Amino acid sequence: MSAPVLAERSRCTGCGACAAGCPKNAITMVADREGFFYPVVGDSCVQCGHCSHICPAMKQREVRPESAVFAVWHLDDAIRQRSGAGGAFTAIAEYVLEGGGIVFGAAVDEHMTVRHVAVRNREELSALRGPKPIQSALGDTYRAVRRALAGNQTVLFTGTPCQVDGLYRFLGEHPTKLLTCDLVCSGVVSPGVWDKLVQTMTYIKRRRAVSVQFAHKQAGMKERRFRVFFEGGGTYDAPISKSQLGRGYVSRLLLRPACHTCPYANTNRVGDITLGTFHNLGAAFAAEEEKGISLLLVNSVKGAHLFDALSLHREKRTMEEAKACNEALCVPPSAAPERSDFFAALEEAGSDLRAVLERYLNAPNPLGTMAAKWKEKLWKKR
Ligand SMILES: Cc1cc2nc3c(=O)[nH]c(=O)nc-3n(C[C@H](O)[C@H](O)[C@H](O)COP(=O)(O)OP(=O)(O)OC[C@H]3O[C@@H](n4cnc5c(N)ncnc54)[C@H](O)[C@@H]3O)c2cc1C
Repeated sequence: MSAPVLAERSRCTGCGACAAGCPKNAITMVADREGFFYPVVGDSCVQCGHCSHICPAMKQREVRPESAVFAVWHLDDAIRQRSGAGGAFTAIAEYVLEGGGIVFGAAVDEHMTVRHVAVRNREELSALRGPKPIQSALGDTYRAVRRALAGNQTVLFTGTPCQVDGLYRFLGEHPTKLLTCDLVCSGVVSPGVWDKLVQTMTYIKRRRAVSVQFAHKQAGMKERRFRVFFEGGGTYDAPISKSQLGRGYVSRLLLRPACHTCPYANTNRVGDITLGTFHNLGAAFAAEEEKGISLLLVNSVKGAHLFDALSLHREKRTMEEAKACNEALCVPPSAAPERSDFFAALEEAGSDLRAVLERYLNAPNPLGTMAAKWKEKLWKKR
């Protein structure tokens, strides 16, 4: 018997494998003062040590052979328009659904919370499309994946690399019928801060926020837009770089502490396939880039079989090209120098948030560094 030793706060990704895997349900994911969820071990813990055993942050990852690199896009322009990049995710999900499988991914619920849900048909797929920069709540998802696999269903699980790794560690194996896609990821925003931003918008508009598009592609405009829709009409609609959320993301003020030392910010990928955004492919691809091009890495034999079956436009590219346009394949995002001041001020502010949000999130480019400018450019391309 061993006492539960879990990853220290600075390294815990919040994947929740420990909570989902606890045989006594003794671990609960609880929001900390920054609004990120961490495991808290309760009295029913019998010290079996399973949580320590499966925690991905406490294990060395295997080194995989180098992935094959492609620039791809969905053949339907309307789907591309509603996707974060070139719609590769939708092509994969459609293939799995057509075969009677089930797809797990991140959606925004009616309370504006980003959470993982299960999708069983094409109509529901739209909820998963597009990036949501907020850390998604996994809830019961890992267990639901295990149930679906036990029922002999094909499962596609998509998420950040830490979530995909958490799922494998929870399952303790790589089941044949499980397909995974991890995202190239430059960090996740605090769900607690997102709640506060939603509260502030609700207060200003005097209406409940009911839906959001984090990076809407508008025809003729290079920059993506952050759009929030309110009950009974009314919209907040701004270029992402001018929104408080976009500024907080670009300046790396709002990210989970573990994102700043992310062990997945490299080319040794965890999923069968990795999805990201491809850009800087040259003048011949300018029009396609405007519509969105997905970066797709094939990381496993299973990923290669899946990729072969997809109907996508595809171009073979190199890992050097992929890395040159995506910092998140090379290094973790560094933290904004004023990160801890911001969270301390937010805590002190209590319910009077607006002044703090304005002070830290209304400046055009708080860091003013090359890295921040580079990231801003990336948002514009997506
Ligand atoms: C937090 C975050 C950071 C990212 N950072 C980068 C980056 O630095 N560089 C880059 O090239 N690409 C990044 N991406 C990925 C990118 O935005 C596109 O989602 C990806 O390129 C796939 O695009 P697509 O058109 O194929 O499909 P899309 O339809 O855009 O992909 C949607 C997929 O993303 C998943 N997803 C969306 N939000 C979340 C979330 N919060 N948590 C877990 N899964 C989620 C959905 O479940 C779905 O599977 C990031 C995505 C997220 C969510």
